[in-house]
Amino acid sequence: MAIREEIESHLIETDVVVSTTVICNKCGRETSDEMERYEYFHVDEPGGYNNWVIGDQCVVEFDLCQYCLAELIDSLIIPPDASSWGRETSWEELKAKRPDWRC
Ligand SMILES: [Zn+2]
Repeated sequence: MAIREEIESHLIETDVVVSTTVICNKCGRETSDEMERYEYFHVDEPGGYNNWVIGDQCVVEFDLCQYCLAELIDSLIIPPDASSWGRETSWEELKAKRPDWRC
């Protein structure tokens, strides 16, 4: 058997489907816009031995759009640390720069 035939005989054809759409698990907002997809917040969190939320050896994975991430952060009792271009700032200052998103 020629080398090329040998190699081809070991190749496995697969159909790989690459999704270009992201869906927010909280609100269902869906986007295929490349720039917006990068701004979705992806969570891929494994649970550990003492994790009663996710469970030991379990994993949860989900995405949040910017709107839902903003709502989540806005609901925090203690505002997160924040910076803008390396300069320390506050979450309130960042919020003030937010465009009027909701439509
Ligand atoms: Zn959302």
